[in-house]
Amino acid sequence: MFDLFVIGAGSGGVRAARMAAATGAKVGIAEERFLGGTCVNVGCVPKKLFSYAAHYPEDINDAYGYGFEINGFHHNWQQLINNKNQEIHRLNGIYQQLLENAGVEIFAHKAQLLGGTKIQVGEQVVEAKKILLAVGGYPTPANIPGSAHCIYSDDVFYLEQKPSSIAIVGGGYIACEFASIFNGLGVETHLLYRKNQLLRHFDHGIGRFAANEMEKKGVTIHYQTDVVGIESRDQALSCVLDNEQTLIVDQVLMAIGRSPNIETLGLENTAIQQQASGHIMVSPEFQTDDPHIYALGDVIGTPELTPVAIEQAMVFVDQQFGENTKTMQYDAIPTAIFTHPTIGSCGLSEEQVLARGLKAKVFVSEFRALKHTLSGSSERAMLKMLVETTTDKVLGIHMVGPEAGEIIQGFAVAVKLALTKAQIDTVIGIHPTLAEEFVTMRESQYCIGD
Ligand code: NDP
Repeated sequence: MFDLFVIGAGSGGVRAARMAAATGAKVGIAEERFLGGTCVNVGCVPKKLFSYAAHYPEDINDAYGYGFEINGFHHNWQQLINNKNQEIHRLNGIYQQLLENAGVEIFAHKAQLLGGTKIQVGEQVVEAKKILLAVGGYPTPANIPGSAHCIYSDDVFYLEQKPSSIAIVGGGYIACEFASIFNGLGVETHLLYRKNQLLRHFDHGIGRFAANEMEKKGVTIHYQTDVVGIESRDQALSCVLDNEQTLIVDQVLMAIGRSPNIETLGLENTAIQQQASGHIMVSPEFQTDDPHIYALGDVIGTPELTPVAIEQAMVFVDQQFGENTKTMQYDAIPTAIFTHPTIGSCGLSEEQVLARGLKAKVFVSEFRALKHTLSGSSERAMLKMLVETTTDKVLGIHMVGPEAGEIIQGFAVAVKLALTKAQIDTVIGIHPTLAEEFVTMRESQYCIGD
């Protein structure tokens, strides 16, 4: 009998298994696909590597202004895929080692809940006092005629050839990131979004600014446009659009959200309840309606971010196998969207400030970075800070610009600790940087909520 059996060896599952085992618990983990889950294999890690790749053509263009003469350069897609595969393989090995060194028993099989303490794992049945579901999600499939011709984010990382043109459907993280990646790699890129505000859950001003920068770099954004069918014609794909036009491309990438990975988990053998979206319902302590079964990560519908799943795992282990001093906090989660340029965000957007009935001063700075005075690039950066009018507390910090993820990670401390603008103003800037702008914003541009 295991003390804990984890189903799914992604970011959350691996962390929970290792940490629980470190307390002396007998722990098993089942993973049918790949160690490290979405993040390591078909998500954050390979995506960021592709994003680095997509920056080089731009960097090379920028270099001319600095006196470099570069006589032709060529990108080898297959080499990018091979090198990426090698790195992911190395990471899979590290995950295996981490689990083995912690004493976790690994089952490279599919697992299914049988009810009670029993779990079918491959050919055998195991038993556990506590079961943790950390099975993650998968790209939501399109439901339109010809959808079999589409690819999904998982497939991009294994494409045998770089397409010469691509239509990307969606307006969220994945659609925007891949639009920048393909465009950066020289692919004719069309982003098709059914509404008129990309990344609509982020600050709208930031979203519009980022979309404009993406368009300046060459992404063609089709707003108010959806694909209603796909036909294969002469080795190309013809997208039938809802405005009755067609768009001919090499590949169609559907990035229309992700769904919880629960279909064959055996939920029908348990008392587990699901949300309307299919995500598993849990208490703040990650307990499902079947009291010895817990769930965390993308399968429970909280923000689908690796660091969130990891923190949930740490809290879960502390509560179940440790000193029970931690609780999960979902406020001020920093995040980045690795578009070109990158978007970084922490805390409330203007729209969220208004929705909460708060009043805020909005500090905005928009400029061309020093680097581009010589590079000739027209790329601009935008930094935005929302400060509560009555308390002077920083409610949100957002940015579009190079290394926005790195910069916002630092400033997230200020948002999380609810520092005041006056406190931030006491910090001396590092000159010349983009980030110094956040500590030198003196006058607010406008107020909201008044
Ligand atoms: P998102 O939920 O971010 O975006 C989905 C997009 O697809 C929305 O624009 C949505 O439109 C649109 N959409 C949904 N259904 C349809 C449909 N039937 N037809 C056309 N468009 C549709 O999902 P993603 O797939 O981009 O990413 C999933 C999650 O993964 C993210 O929310 C994020 O948590 C995580 N992620 C994080 C990353 C990071 O940290 N950098 C990178 C990638 C993913 P509408 O706005 O109208 O609803």
